[in-house]
Amino acid sequence: MAQCVAVSDVAGGSKRTSRVRVAVRLRPYMEKQDEKVAGACVRGLGPKSLEIINWRNSTETLQYQFDVFYGEQTTQQEVFLTSVKPILPHLLNGQNACVFAYGPTGAGKTHTMLGTQEEPGVIPRAVREVFRLVRVQEKEGDDWDYTIDMSYLEIYNEKVLDLLSPSTQDLHIREDKDRNILIPGLTHTSLSSFLDFHTHFIPASLNRTTASTKLNQRSSRSHAILLIKVQKSQRIRPHRQQTGKLYLVDLAGSEDNRRTGNQGLRLKESGAINLSLFTLSKVVDSLNSGVGRVPYRDSKLTRLLQDSLGGSAHSIMITNIAPEQKYYFDTFTALNFAAKSKLIVNKPFVRETVSSTESGKRARQEQGYDAATEPQ
Ligand code: ADP
Ligand code: MG
Repeated sequence: MAQCVAVSDVAGGSKRTSRVRVAVRLRPYMEKQDEKVAGACVRGLGPKSLEIINWRNSTETLQYQFDVFYGEQTTQQEVFLTSVKPILPHLLNGQNACVFAYGPTGAGKTHTMLGTQEEPGVIPRAVREVFRLVRVQEKEGDDWDYTIDMSYLEIYNEKVLDLLSPSTQDLHIREDKDRNILIPGLTHTSLSSFLDFHTHFIPASLNRTTASTKLNQRSSRSHAILLIKVQKSQRIRPHRQQTGKLYLVDLAGSEDNRRTGNQGLRLKESGAINLSLFTLSKVVDSLNSGVGRVPYRDSKLTRLLQDSLGGSAHSIMITNIAPEQKYYFDTFTALNFAAKSKLIVNKPFVRETVSSTESGKRARQEQGYDAATEPQ
């Protein structure tokens, strides 16, 4: 008999402006040969759901629901247009926004955020769009002057480091009387065009990747945070000022670091990664369920994002997952972090591809199975 279990349903939070939208993106299989032998351990069911085999019981499948599910065919353009572009106009109204990529190392976070020359990701597309929006506003001749600047930082071992001025030490995070989060001493580079952004950002991001191979894949063990600030000042009285902040975050790998040999520096790194990702999950949970204190202060990452995650901010988390068997447990953990709800369906996992319409139909039929609720 089929047993269905619904866990952590946050539908009640959907009216709150502070909800964090959660998308899941499955990257394509990387080793075609391996795909033929082992097959993918996860597959899409429709535009909001996917399934993986239940490791506790191989006759069962686990089905998960999200705000959006992006299958392996999804293009960079689609991710941007559907998840990121719609939140950008709020920046010009003095509101904040945050896009972050979550998931195990190798699952596609950097591809989603940065992408490649041929397939640019969220970061270049978003910055280009912010410039476009500001130009449109300027052409319409409103009474405001606009400036755009960027900062680029990294949180590594609970230290805040300026990637545009690499010699600086751990920076402090402060809050002003209006509850805005500030980092005194952080470099802000003023940008006059998208090309200008490219000139400043690409060398800084390359620096980070090159250093990573020398320093124990540092890029997978630190959070890279790009901040784009749109400042508006009114030309006429009362000369009001508004600032909209956009955070674009490539998080540290969410893999369970306890499984890899961990000593000394690595152990310290793992503790810091676990602390910030664990706190982030608590923050997202408490924002989306609308209950409990939001524990922003428990890690540097969430403290830094405090004014841009929840409240009047617009946030989206893109959870990246990989289809290969070796990622199974990390995928499982990442999905549990991201899921709005989970169903356990009593049927073996079928290793085949199904067109999204057909799979959507099947998923709907399966919702009709007996359901019982289980605490998480
Ligand atoms: P992460 O940053 O999470 O460690 P990467 O973004 O570096 O992962 O992705 C790992 C590999 O998979 C890279 O070679 C990347 O180009 C490739 N990749 C990831 N996502 C996709 C995708 N959607 N389409 C094609 N290749 C992808
Ligand atoms: Mg990466």
